[in-house]
Amino acid sequence: MTGLHDRFAGARAIVVTGLLGVLLAGCATNNAPQTTALADGVTRVDLGAVAVTMLRDGQGSRPLDAAFVRNAPLVDVQAALAEAKLPTDRLEVPYTPLVVDVGSERVLFDTGNGEFGAAGSGKLLENMAKARIDPRSITAVVISHFHGDHINGLRSRSGNLVFPYARVYVPAPEWNWWMDEARLAATPEAQRGGLNTARRVFAPLADAVVRFEPGVEILPGVRSIAAFGHTPGHTVFMIEGGSRKVLYWADTTNVSMFVRHPDWAVVFDMDAEAAKTTRRRIADLAIRENALVAGFHLPGAAIGTLQVRGDGYEFTPLP
Ligand SMILES: [Zn+2]
Repeated sequence: MTGLHDRFAGARAIVVTGLLGVLLAGCATNNAPQTTALADGVTRVDLGAVAVTMLRDGQGSRPLDAAFVRNAPLVDVQAALAEAKLPTDRLEVPYTPLVVDVGSERVLFDTGNGEFGAAGSGKLLENMAKARIDPRSITAVVISHFHGDHINGLRSRSGNLVFPYARVYVPAPEWNWWMDEARLAATPEAQRGGLNTARRVFAPLADAVVRFEPGVEILPGVRSIAAFGHTPGHTVFMIEGGSRKVLYWADTTNVSMFVRHPDWAVVFDMDAEAAKTTRRRIADLAIRENALVAGFHLPGAAIGTLQVRGDGYEFTPLP
């Protein structure tokens, strides 16, 4: 019996050593998180006390022309697209809002295009249903900036709030820029599109919306970080409390070729110089804090890991 017992003990030791190896390997890969594809374009990332659900709102397409990147020759841009395995004759830009369950809050970050985007967009609610997330269960909507693809989903064409029980959080500098009446008056009618969009969505909420100064913790476990440049008040969010931090960097970059080429200025960046500096600061922050990065226009599940590569960075979506 002793011999048998010894053999069992030996086997147990091997099993324990094996488990330890697996655990250590887990640490070495920074606790690779569990992801579950719930449907096409719907991915849940389980981080223990924090759960992230990436919800594709569809994608837009635009012709690629020399104006898309202001400071790089078209031929270089096409080469970068080819390297990223993207079409080189047009831009396909995905939109991916996310829902984060953190503490007692269910937070939607950005709202997608709603009923106001191009064909192929406005799929957030459909994908929420696939994830079994009831819009009425959203307790907070957090807005990164006021471009239409990020705010139009807040309100339907008939004017109803799509997430009726959610408090709405917006960066104060963003609000102040877009909602400024003097700016509207000084802007020619033909160029008022963005200003009018912001008013349609937010004017009826002027007293209810929570305007915060970037830098504060807006909700337990959700820290706002100023990331100005793409727009005057563009703000990103570090989400803490799970097995891994998540940095929702919104439009710090547009599609992934701007991760590889952080000094390239996409036509949508309102202050190109500030946006360039911000891109590197935010990317370095993600790497320093070992955070997963979620980005509104990033590929695949739109959440993944970031590494330094050459003079830029490399984004690898979670599988
Ligand atoms: Zn955007």
